[in-house]
Amino acid sequence: MPRSRGRWILGKEIFDAAIIGAGVVGCAIARELSRFELNVCVIEKEPDVSFGTSSRNSGVLHSGINYEPDTKRARLSVRGNGMMDALCADLKVQMKRIGKLTVALSREDLPGLNRLRERGAANGVSGMEMLDSSRMSKIQPGIAGIFGLWTPSSAVISPYGLTIALAENARANGVRFFLGCEVSGIRRESVFADDRADKDYFCVSFQNGLEIRSSVLINAAGLHADEISRMAGVNAPPVWACRGEYFVLDKRLDGTLKTLVYPVPGQNDPGLGIHLTPTVDGNILIGPSAAYIPDEYRESYRVTDRVMPALRREGGRMLPGLAASDFIRSFAGNRPKLTPPERGGNGDFIIEEAEDRPGFIHLLGIESPGLTSAPAIAEDVRDLVGARIELRKKDDFIAHRSGCAGRFADLPGDERAYMANIEPEYGEIVCRCESITKKEVRDAIENPFGARGLSGIKYRSRAMMGRCQGGFCVARIVRMLREEYGYGPEDFLMNGPNSRLFSGFTREPDRTPPADSEDDG
Ligand SMILES: Cc1cc2nc3c(=O)[nH]c(=O)nc-3n(C[C@H](O)[C@H](O)[C@H](O)COP(=O)(O)OP(=O)(O)OC[C@H]3O[C@@H](n4cnc5c(N)ncnc54)[C@H](O)[C@@H]3O)c2cc1C
Repeated sequence: MPRSRGRWILGKEIFDAAIIGAGVVGCAIARELSRFELNVCVIEKEPDVSFGTSSRNSGVLHSGINYEPDTKRARLSVRGNGMMDALCADLKVQMKRIGKLTVALSREDLPGLNRLRERGAANGVSGMEMLDSSRMSKIQPGIAGIFGLWTPSSAVISPYGLTIALAENARANGVRFFLGCEVSGIRRESVFADDRADKDYFCVSFQNGLEIRSSVLINAAGLHADEISRMAGVNAPPVWACRGEYFVLDKRLDGTLKTLVYPVPGQNDPGLGIHLTPTVDGNILIGPSAAYIPDEYRESYRVTDRVMPALRREGGRMLPGLAASDFIRSFAGNRPKLTPPERGGNGDFIIEEAEDRPGFIHLLGIESPGLTSAPAIAEDVRDLVGARIELRKKDDFIAHRSGCAGRFADLPGDERAYMANIEPEYGEIVCRCESITKKEVRDAIENPFGARGLSGIKYRSRAMMGRCQGGFCVARIVRMLREEYGYGPEDFLMNGPNSRLFSGFTREPDRTPPADSEDDG
């Protein structure tokens, strides 16, 4: 098959592969394809990567015990989980293998617990053990329950940290990102040579009027993947959004949970049940709930009066002594499900080349464990792409991401002092709650995939994520962006174009030159 070599000029050249969606799945595919001599691009409607489901989840790397054997979810989660140590080392992403206890609180839960163990064995989950209450207490002191299934391969990770790292590394390897470009139409066209159709490609139009062309089109659009498939003329089952709401608890409780503790899920539960999740950064999450929401709210991330009090109660029951001031923030994420509300439960991932549209690869229903499975999904998609386009490995693929893993505040004192000596901005705290320095905020703004908007700075540096939720640091970051990067009031966005922080000045800035620079004649 003849290969076109696009020069990344919108509208003129033809990409080898275009990926719609810059969530963890799209970015993992982009990085995987960037190992090869291909022209690849990612198209994302939001102004930054990881603004969808990929930043709104529990951040757990699942072991694979929860999924029916012989499904894609089972195979890809076990494989994806196993790939994470090397991937996180290469990309300098923090991950902690803290293991998980799935706990039977009473005898009624035991059949469900045994079913998980059998599934885990069939799926090849390593290191599983059934523990009685005294052995469970050694792992998690004070835990209630009669038996628990221990899965040491379960882990926690920063979901947006992983997505941003994958995107940065893909970009370092030549992938082009079109951010703020919402796909609004897809058509098939042909290149003609000697009056004969020589090559077919996809012409993808964006809402902003631009277009790109690509030989292979990969639909990783999460909650909107069914709409994208339909745009391409491909029959796709509907995606149903199922909301999960969370509370974030203060870091005061860091260390309370040594491991992940989950209840035994019911057969038709759309999620894994409300539980406590210690995050890789030292907070605890309570949640997620699971409630289907109407189609027009697919991307509404409101938390509700119905769920929040229930999460507070549940939190108080699971962590006695919890104070009202420990609840620092709430958020929600929506699962892109293939099972309708009346059925509940979970469907399997769909990852395939559409039968009636050669070159169109679509990924539908990538709900949990999509984060865990992302690097393995990327390999499956690579093989599908490889069936259409010759894959030749690059000699100069950069596997590693530069920069420092983890936070400056976590380094040993002498190392911090040494670095602050060389780079004084390491000595200036911008975010007091999370001890984030000015240099870390600057790195978030200036790195190869620099942050756009305050949410981007937050996801990259963790500034604004502490208990005051930006009360202290937003003013300092705003001043930095205004004075050192020339931002005007209308340039400050929280995330998308409709999230302006300011509408203008309340009074005109004082432009009088300082006295010592006045021209005295
Ligand atoms: C409450 C909850 C808890 C979860 N917990 C876990 C967990 O602990 N472990 C785990 O493994 N998984 C978990 N998941 C699942 C995991 O978060 C998802 O499987 C994963 O994030 C999916 O990534 P994605 O890239 O497919 O989707 P997304 O992150 O949603 O990315 C899709 C992207 O496509 C873009 N897009 C959509 N339409 C268009 C368009 N027309 N044009 C251009 N761009 C478009 C969107 O803006 C978005 O950025 C959880 C999910 C939820 C909701």
